[in-house]
Amino acid sequence: MKKISRRKFTRILGCGCAMSLSSCSYNPINKRSQLSIVPERIVKHMSDEYYYEFLADNDLVKNKKLVKKVREIGKRIEIGIKKYFEIENRLDEYEKYQYDYEINIVKDKRTINAFAMPTAKIVFFSRILDFTKNEDEIATIMGHEMGHVVAWHSKERMSHAVALELVSSATGGIIGSGSALSEIGYFLPFSRFQETEADELGLRFMTLAGYKPESSVSFWMNLKNYSQKLEKYKSKHDIGARFLRNLPQVLRTHPITENRIKNLNRLIPKVKIEYL
Ligand SMILES: [Zn+2]
Repeated sequence: MKKISRRKFTRILGCGCAMSLSSCSYNPINKRSQLSIVPERIVKHMSDEYYYEFLADNDLVKNKKLVKKVREIGKRIEIGIKKYFEIENRLDEYEKYQYDYEINIVKDKRTINAFAMPTAKIVFFSRILDFTKNEDEIATIMGHEMGHVVAWHSKERMSHAVALELVSSATGGIIGSGSALSEIGYFLPFSRFQETEADELGLRFMTLAGYKPESSVSFWMNLKNYSQKLEKYKSKHDIGARFLRNLPQVLRTHPITENRIKNLNRLIPKVKIEYL
């Protein structure tokens, strides 16, 4: 995947960013102030550039039935998000952003992952669907990714990366690292906090969309069991190195821990009382 160069990013960013360094935005969905120093138009420009380049570089799954099914799940989660805002009495605030969701599946049998752009473009790698046993489990992934979108996680990550770079420049590189800007936050994994937030939002959205909240746990259990199977292979010395090298991306970047499952198990009864 092509990365946006430091020079190019600096050119796109111009000087508007530094001027608004102290700026934070209040996000109506997670009800917290978020660092927001990358102007909206730049976020959109970079998102579009990355997204369309990514689609051009990858083969899309052509199975119409499967694509239709996954997109329909997306539509239902969108309804779940609207219900969430109706209940919160803040539907107007949400609709102001006019998210234009687009869902695609790319052919990739190695990457167990999905990602969401701040512009509400969502991509599933086909391999992740092998770990779902039903639509409710697909809804878990969809809810989680849409959670990242509406909670502005990419934007927040970009702002943190830019802030780090600015501090790094000001301190002559003592703090932070030059690579932060070339990574522009886009290519960094979400923080543990953001992952937990997306899990919780996703759980709420899928429940309000009529999916079984317990499926969030069974989906993560599927991944955890697979991860444990790989661990077992790794312990066999002769083939261990090969497995390590081939370890699917999600298992290296997403913390699949007991904590994640524990957290969902803790939230499910609460969410059921609130919505069912
Ligand atoms: Zn995530």
